[in-house]
Amino acid sequence: MQPENISGGEEPPSGRQIQTLKEFHSAGRGFWSDVSDVDWNDWKWQLKHRITNAEQLQKLLPTLTPEEFAGAKLANTKLALAITPYFFNLIDPADENCPIRLQVIPKVAESHTAPWEMSDPVGEDSHSPVPGLVHRYPDRVLFLVTDRCAAYCRYCTRSRLVSNATGYDFHPEFDKQIAYIAAHPEIRDVLLSGGDPLLLSDDKLENLLSRLRAIPHVEFLRIGSRIPTFLPQRITPELCAMLKKFHPLFMSVHSNHPRELTTEVRDALGRLADAGIPLGNQSVLLKHVNDDAVVMKAHVQKLLMCRVKPYYIYQCDLISGSAHLRTSVRQGVEIMQQLRGHTTGYAVPQYVIDAPGGGGKVPVNPEYVLSHNADRVVLRNYEGKIFEYPEASDGTPLSKPPKEIEEPELCKC
Ligand SMILES: *Cc1c(COP(=O)(O)O)cnc(C)c1O
Repeated sequence: MQPENISGGEEPPSGRQIQTLKEFHSAGRGFWSDVSDVDWNDWKWQLKHRITNAEQLQKLLPTLTPEEFAGAKLANTKLALAITPYFFNLIDPADENCPIRLQVIPKVAESHTAPWEMSDPVGEDSHSPVPGLVHRYPDRVLFLVTDRCAAYCRYCTRSRLVSNATGYDFHPEFDKQIAYIAAHPEIRDVLLSGGDPLLLSDDKLENLLSRLRAIPHVEFLRIGSRIPTFLPQRITPELCAMLKKFHPLFMSVHSNHPRELTTEVRDALGRLADAGIPLGNQSVLLKHVNDDAVVMKAHVQKLLMCRVKPYYIYQCDLISGSAHLRTSVRQGVEIMQQLRGHTTGYAVPQYVIDAPGGGGKVPVNPEYVLSHNADRVVLRNYEGKIFEYPEASDGTPLSKPPKEIEEPELCKC
């Protein structure tokens, strides 16, 4: 617990850094300046013109390192390389550690598997009653509707399934998954993910959502998608008008760094919000991308400006070949400590570790309860100040405060 670093009067340097990170910019046209507006703003054009091999990367990014070139060569034997032209334009060619670049440009380091890394790090396959469905929690299921994404995150938890990496037998008919959900009345929440569900055509997605809505016990629908940040052009008024018919429908988007929140993304998220879709964001804690409290604070504040509630920050799963992007849990807790109390409560996400082997998401928090016994709870606040909350042993508040205040006993954790 560090005291706040405020040097009276003047705004602290991190304040200016946050302001700069929070400015909204367009991704611009970059290399594609002669493409017509109609094409550039067409999501199918963006998909068709994705960067998918080492030679294209080298041509577009003269600062590509040998490590990246070799990584890109290897990628297509494992998790595919694909970057939309729109997202590619966010890369800073002068910065080898550009937070955008690290997320989508492969490195040879991806082919090194640390001893504790796995191909199915959160044990999804063992909780899969039918292909394409993960039923881990009592009342909700994860429904994998496609194995394709608009672009591929190098730290993808599902790299064993997506981009046809291992010849995963994908079932686009959904009959088995829907039959399972219909046969299990305890399932009240269906989370569509993949791959990216928004890669389906409007018609296909509408058909799937209708079939799910026709099941009386399905109360709540969610879509997990990285398309608003990889391909904001996909968020058309037609798509929003269609999604609107299936409320209550929420969306979890995925952004890791404030630079991903461009004017294009802000507009796309605004269209979703205007369609009445509550938006949450999921970030993955990544080395040199967002493992820094200043960057993370700017990011969560900027998300609120995009009408998105920061929902989860994930500790990076133990996916094979991700060691170069992983940060320590200690650093994650430190970042959470720099958020809670220091900024809007709505901007503070829950930090979680998706337990290796299939335990599900476990919240990880800084310690604020210093001790708790029959008479009192000893707390510390975000500034590190100590407070007492007295309680009688039967739970009713005490009429008198306890006589003496000793040193708080520290938790044994
Ligand atoms: C993350 C996840 C969910 C949804 O969890 P929430 O905490 O409700 O967001 C559901 N099923 C699986 C398998 C998941 O990994």
